[in-house]
Amino acid sequence: VGLVWIVFSDRLVEAWFSDPAMLSLVQTWKGFLFVLVTGAVLFAATLRQFYKDRKLLKLQYDQRQALRMRERQLSVLMDNLPGMAYRCRFDEYWTMLFVSQGCERLTGYRPGDLVRNREVSFAELIADPESSERVVNEVRTALENREPFSIEYPLIRKDGRQIWVWERGRGVEDDDGELVLEGIILDISDRKALEEELEELATRDGLTGLYNRRESSRLLEEELERARRYRRPMALLWIDLDHFKEINDTHGHAAGDSVLKSISRMLEDSVRSVDSVGRFGGEEFVIILPEMDVREAHETAERIRRRISGQLHPLGDGVGAPMTISIGVAVYPDHGTDPASLCAAADKAMYCAKGRGRNCVVMAPDAEGDHNDRKDARG
Ligand code: GH3
Ligand code: MG
Ligand code: MG
Repeated sequence: VGLVWIVFSDRLVEAWFSDPAMLSLVQTWKGFLFVLVTGAVLFAATLRQFYKDRKLLKLQYDQRQALRMRERQLSVLMDNLPGMAYRCRFDEYWTMLFVSQGCERLTGYRPGDLVRNREVSFAELIADPESSERVVNEVRTALENREPFSIEYPLIRKDGRQIWVWERGRGVEDDDGELVLEGIILDISDRKALEEELEELATRDGLTGLYNRRESSRLLEEELERARRYRRPMALLWIDLDHFKEINDTHGHAAGDSVLKSISRMLEDSVRSVDSVGRFGGEEFVIILPEMDVREAHETAERIRRRISGQLHPLGDGVGAPMTISIGVAVYPDHGTDPASLCAAADKAMYCAKGRGRNCVVMAPDAEGDHNDRKDARG
């Protein structure tokens, strides 16, 4: 615009004013006007740029502040996490690229010891090879499906203590396009212990610690299935205490409980580790004896009967009472081939023992209907 003005304004002025004095005056004012307008335009442009820069600077400053604030919040959050946040490679060491301060609380190692496997790799902390394999497989599957993963596994801390952890993470690409894993790991040992306790409660009888009725039934089904598959025998003992009500009536319920506990311990001590002893009801017990045929089962039952009757059972106040039991025995496949028929046969044999005067062992009747009780010794 300036150039066009310079070229054409002179011509216009020369055309209009012929008087040299006038021409000179107009040209001087025209020069002033040019400088003034140019100055004003430059000034406006500079001012505009200045405000623009200022706005940009302020924006950058605000962004930096916000970033710093977010970093601070993130680091406070990470340091106060109940577990440890991490970023790691998906390699055989689970090489940690970053771990939060919670690392020390969780594993006993400082973040610096674990990052880039300086002192120990995270893979070495996983308690056993089976867990390691399971963790790798679950993470790999999740990555293939582009899903986050949640896993529970045992860890060994620096002090040698084993803990259970829950990990949730996902695969992400870092700035170089390399696959890394990010997530958090929490200590769930308390929850695991509670779960185990609950499971124990669900399978054990509260008074005696023996398997409860439900678990005994489950174990019987399991053992029968195994016996069937391997074509092996197995025996079931059905035990009822004799005249137990008298103990309660004479010495009280607490004394009765004490006798139940004593007999439970003795039953457990009288069998092999593969056998299972359960409390089926009030003072009725079942014993599952895998791999036992009729003869062996009878001998075992007889041995248990003698043992119980040969000792006094504490009533809780330092005094002991004699106790006897009646046992019915049923054997797979001789007396039943499914849980219900085997239980019924053993129960019936037990009632038969009661009928014979108690404190004896009665074998379930075989196909001919004889009680195959082999001349039980009594007392
Ligand atoms: P028998 O079996 O020889 O015919 O006589 P019994 O006196 O043992 O008769 P029964 O089996 O019918 O009696 C069972 C008794 O066991 C009745 C009940 O008071 C008692 N009982 C059941 N559960 C418990 C328990 O948890 N604690 C105590 N103390 N007693 C129990
Ligand atoms: Mg009974
Ligand atoms: Mg009884």
